[in-house]
Amino acid sequence: MARIAVGGFQHETNTFAPSKATYDDFLRPGAWPGLTRGEGLFEAVAGINIGIAGFVEAAQAQGHTLVPLAWTQATPSAHVTEDAYERVVGQIVEDLEKLEDLDGLYLDLHGAMVAEHVDDGEGEMLRRIRAAVGLGLPIVVSLDLHANVTAEMVEHADCLEIYRTYPHVDMAATGKRSAAQLDALIDGGGGRHKAFRQLPFMIPLTSGCTLHGPAQAVYAEVRRLAKAPGVSAISFACGFCPADFPDAGASLVAYGDTQAAADAAAEALYDAALGREEAFALVALPADEAVREAMRLAAGANKPVVLADAQDNAGGGANSDTTGLLRALLAQRAEGAVVANLYDPAAAEAAHAAGEGATVSLTLGGHSGVPGDAPLQADFKVLRLGDGRVTGTGPFYKGAHMQLGRTALLELDGVKVAIASSKIQLADQAMLRHLGVEPAQQKILALKSSVHFRADFQPIAEEILVVASPGPVVLDNRELPFQRLRPGLRIMPLGEVFQP
Ligand SMILES: [Zn+2]
Repeated sequence: MARIAVGGFQHETNTFAPSKATYDDFLRPGAWPGLTRGEGLFEAVAGINIGIAGFVEAAQAQGHTLVPLAWTQATPSAHVTEDAYERVVGQIVEDLEKLEDLDGLYLDLHGAMVAEHVDDGEGEMLRRIRAAVGLGLPIVVSLDLHANVTAEMVEHADCLEIYRTYPHVDMAATGKRSAAQLDALIDGGGGRHKAFRQLPFMIPLTSGCTLHGPAQAVYAEVRRLAKAPGVSAISFACGFCPADFPDAGASLVAYGDTQAAADAAAEALYDAALGREEAFALVALPADEAVREAMRLAAGANKPVVLADAQDNAGGGANSDTTGLLRALLAQRAEGAVVANLYDPAAAEAAHAAGEGATVSLTLGGHSGVPGDAPLQADFKVLRLGDGRVTGTGPFYKGAHMQLGRTALLELDGVKVAIASSKIQLADQAMLRHLGVEPAQQKILALKSSVHFRADFQPIAEEILVVASPGPVVLDNRELPFQRLRPGLRIMPLGEVFQP
């Protein structure tokens, strides 16, 4: 039986987003628990679809002794502040330095964290942790499919295991795979030879969905190669594009019993992805066109047409308060449409003060200064109020105890808008039921999410249309003012090459 330390520090950093992640943001629970250090950690994450929960369950079943470190996450945003980064990494390193007789370390990281003072958040964290625990201790790290993997991360961890699904329905499963990898490494196996490759093109966010198309095929190849002779682990990361630093983009990492085995698997996966470059092209509609098409489809459907307000997704760093898609629905009188969730704590407060059935005059949304967006000034009817406590029931947010803060369902000209006081992407039907909206019975659902909503909503949807209305999760990378990518990287599939 082994003695294993367990912790995590997760942030997906959109360096073009409007707000930074402070220490306070890491303290507060959102979709998942806030900062939890030491005792109480395993209880706080139990049963949730996240990496650490899967790891703990699998490692405890093996009879290992687990030592809790710090674990935290914050909603994606712009840079993690230097203060937050140093405090959280400091806690993990400080606790590790006090521990003796460890056999292994598991960390639940994201892989696309950029701090104010550190480009490669995870690489630097792993460098410090490796310095603290020494070269001999096996370290396994699980990462998000949107990790921007760096050579430093590969160097300082013995194995990186990356999610294989987007929507990420396999976060806990990836934790379980990580537990198996750590077991093998502790037993002296596990394949210590590494091969790391970065792809020469960026994959637009919504093109990384593994429910169809090229990403589905690439991850089928990952699963096949993971079982190849001499290969102990292999992972592919689609990368997170809105991160202006040299390691942004798709990558892969393979581990083998020999360098030749690791290299061969890496080359095969590289070719599988590169050969599908054209198929990764972006498909998205402007808001007015998307609404027109949704109304046409909805007229003959008995299931909802879902519009993905993909660029205003809180899960990608947005504040989820832009009004572009809402305006398009109002302009075309899309009665029966439901917009969810628009982040506006002041509007939620005003709705609660007015009460259900009242009419409130609001300056709704548009507070983030997103180019092309503005608040919507109107009188809304307050249909329903909520306390924002929601437990996820869908495959992505399964078991998550979300705290949306004060919520409200408003109505204007037959269009409903769900308001929340914390930024959590709309990726679970329970978030709508919380306000009395039965998702399957709606005509049009306009959801502030890029892809994760598909896990719970695709089964009830007549059709899903990806919308490009104002928001900082820019899908077409040509619109991002990149300055620091690596020269030669194609910023869109078969698209233009970045030159500094
Ligand atoms: Zn992700």
